[in-house]
Amino acid sequence: MIPEIEKASLAEIKTLQEQKLVELMHYLYNNSTYYQGVFRSHNILPSSICSLEDLVKAPVTTKEQLQQFNDDFICVPKNEIIDYVTTSGTLGEPVTFALTDNDLKRLAYNEAISFACAGVKQDDVLQLMTTIDRRFMAGLAYFLGARELGAGIIRVGAGIPELQWDSILKFKPTYLIVVPSFLLKLIKYAEEHDIDLNSSGIKGAVCIGESLRNQDFSLNTLAQKIKSAWDIELYSTYASTEMSTAFTECSEQQGGHHHPELIVAEILDDNNSPVGDGEVGELTITTLGVEAMPLLRFKTGDMVKAHTSNCKCGRNTMRLGPVIGRKRQMIKYKGTTLYPPAMYNILNDFSEVENYIIEISHNSIGTDEILIKIAAQNPSEEFLHDIKDHFRAKLRVSPKIEVHDKKEIQKLQFPKLSRKPLIVIDKR
Ligand SMILES: [Zn+2]
Repeated sequence: MIPEIEKASLAEIKTLQEQKLVELMHYLYNNSTYYQGVFRSHNILPSSICSLEDLVKAPVTTKEQLQQFNDDFICVPKNEIIDYVTTSGTLGEPVTFALTDNDLKRLAYNEAISFACAGVKQDDVLQLMTTIDRRFMAGLAYFLGARELGAGIIRVGAGIPELQWDSILKFKPTYLIVVPSFLLKLIKYAEEHDIDLNSSGIKGAVCIGESLRNQDFSLNTLAQKIKSAWDIELYSTYASTEMSTAFTECSEQQGGHHHPELIVAEILDDNNSPVGDGEVGELTITTLGVEAMPLLRFKTGDMVKAHTSNCKCGRNTMRLGPVIGRKRQMIKYKGTTLYPPAMYNILNDFSEVENYIIEISHNSIGTDEILIKIAAQNPSEEFLHDIKDHFRAKLRVSPKIEVHDKKEIQKLQFPKLSRKPLIVIDKR
């Protein structure tokens, strides 16, 4: 199931995107209270933006605006809204996302072609290891996508290795949809209970939430650890509620493929201008074909690099490399710019580290400080020294490290109402 457009020429892809962009401009002009205001104040008419190059004429949309004017983004009457989703806002309150029946169909299509990209076929059975309720979009998207593709899906939900294995052994799924670090827990459980991982019938895992690869697409420590115990293919998928679209890796595993019929992707610098080819910038998206809450030039906050070389899988679409980090979590530390994921990668190299949390703060002279709290079995001075050396070798800087009780760190990781564990506490 590869849509024609993914194998079309770059010129054909651009033409299709521009047709859909023109439709979007008219739609926003007629239906979006928020964008009507923006267009008025910037003297923008639907005809002002006809090409991808014209997009820079429109201002960007920020997470703060989405939060502040949440209801003004909704383009349909309430009786057309089917599903309500929330996503964590930056100003405290969650942001509401509404989806119409057509939006749910679009979501299903997106996930079906994303699964297909990762090699999932109609005969496959997926085991869903993420939450499907609690106002989350992702779990529902996976369910709808599997259904659209005609594949089977087992909704086990997050956590509980025992139940996951019971389900794997009973229903023989072929793919897992999972946060990759949870695979380590499944591996540990299997080893403790004499379950043979490599005869479990699992071919691959579609992995969300954490990177599997370094920027050159080699496996990072987490992925290496998984693969050394369990011979399965790991595919990264990157998505968000605001995008309602996924960038999923194909068989070549060289970045997540863009679905041009669903979203326009720009990579922007600090001045909201497109970065040069192959440069890192903030992913900024314009959704195509969304009815309830379409977004124009929405800044995702994620720092990424685009790859445009032809992919051996036959798709000509752009690919996004692993997310380097959240823009607002960028740390300037002793003259080096770094993002938390680079630090996770280093900490994951030490099997003695049981869990950790990274605190970022401003010090008295206004520069950034990093404090890493770790829990480890029998942490010796030498061991802490090794971690620091590893930081220096990989990142050129060595943050402060403190040893804490495992339970204490767990408590920090799961504050009230949190749907996923925190790894970074940003106090700036
Ligand atoms: Zn490909």
